[in-house]
Amino acid sequence: MHRSGAVMAWNVFKFCTALRGLGSIMILLVLGVVGVTYYALVVTNYGPFMYEGGFDSVTALAVLILFHFLLVMLLWSYFSVVLTDPGGVPPNWRPLMDEESGDADPLTGSEYCNTGLGMQQSTGLSDPANPRVRYCRKCNQLKPPRCHHCSVCGRCVLKMDHHCVWVVNCVGALNYKYFLLFLFYTFLETSLVTLSLLPQFIAFFSDGEISGTPGTLATTFLAFVLNLAFALSVMGFLIMHISLVAGNTTTIEAYEKKTTPKWRYDIGRKKNFEQVFGTDKRYWLIPAYSEEDLRRMPALQGLEYPSKPDLDAQEF
Ligand SMILES: [Zn+2]
Ligand SMILES: [Zn+2]
Repeated sequence: MHRSGAVMAWNVFKFCTALRGLGSIMILLVLGVVGVTYYALVVTNYGPFMYEGGFDSVTALAVLILFHFLLVMLLWSYFSVVLTDPGGVPPNWRPLMDEESGDADPLTGSEYCNTGLGMQQSTGLSDPANPRVRYCRKCNQLKPPRCHHCSVCGRCVLKMDHHCVWVVNCVGALNYKYFLLFLFYTFLETSLVTLSLLPQFIAFFSDGEISGTPGTLATTFLAFVLNLAFALSVMGFLIMHISLVAGNTTTIEAYEKKTTPKWRYDIGRKKNFEQVFGTDKRYWLIPAYSEEDLRRMPALQGLEYPSKPDLDAQEF
């Protein structure tokens, strides 16, 4: 029993090391897909259409402008997720104490109970003044609410959602919005490319004459298939994350929530949305926050989260 546990831990470690090694390859893969798409759409198809005159030129210009705008937004969001630290636990972090009850405010019974075996093991190590505060044995530190240990990153990540191989980073409190924008713009861009290359793709299988060298035709074919595949898979992912944001839940918490009928962080759809995107409408569609939101909203720092006050009493 003990031995198999050790073997499994070793395998998991190896898997995590492999994921870490994938790092730069995934970034190159993303840029490769962007490059193939750019070549197929701009260089071989819609670029030349620009010079045909008439209606085709206007359509081609509209497609090219929209494509370049979405590409800028997509790459901006993508590198924001890649380069933004998802949020680590500050050294010697201590929970804020509630003056009246003497309890640490943000920690919940449900979160505490549902962490399973890991939690039982660490109970004895938690803060003696507040036994509900979770403790990470790997990092040797207390865990703020909604924080989870990522075995790929090898550290605790604030409001961890998941470790994403495509962005070679953890998705957590400080870069979740950027990740969602990356999904959003990827969906729009890949849908635009799929629809724009559809006539060429249909022509490819029809008997009619098609222009272009075998190389450009192959690139167009590849770009169409890749973009269609990304559009469909990203759409599913986007729908899932829209429902998670609406309920103020992370992917990890979605599993915990199954046993919790009332989720304490669910403070209404509008406020749940603002906790991820901020309150300033001008910043909703760009990977950034206003200075004022960063100052006023503790949720954007990843250490404290507002919750339904009536659920505090229920959980004891
Ligand atoms: Zn940890
Ligand atoms: Zn991670």
